[in-house]
Amino acid sequence: MTIGLLRGVNKSGHKGWTTEKCILCGATLDFLHGYELKNIYYCSKCLSNNIKAYFCAADARKVHYKCPFCHSELKPYY
Ligand SMILES: [Zn+2]
Ligand SMILES: [Zn+2]
Repeated sequence: MTIGLLRGVNKSGHKGWTTEKCILCGATLDFLHGYELKNIYYCSKCLSNNIKAYFCAADARKVHYKCPFCHSELKPYY
């Protein structure tokens, strides 16, 4: 067990969100600007596994709103 791994990880994923990148295309998803929130999707299952599974709207549509990693349904982050 490496305690150091836990440091700096937001378990809930909801605290301190500022900017993440789309895991597929690398587009910057800016959580600070409300007008863009509707364009952000995420996979809660991957996030709970510490995979930064955020998706821009275009890629979410491309994968039919299913996570390409675990095949869970993507959720919009409103
Ligand atoms: Zn993307
Ligand atoms: Zn997933």
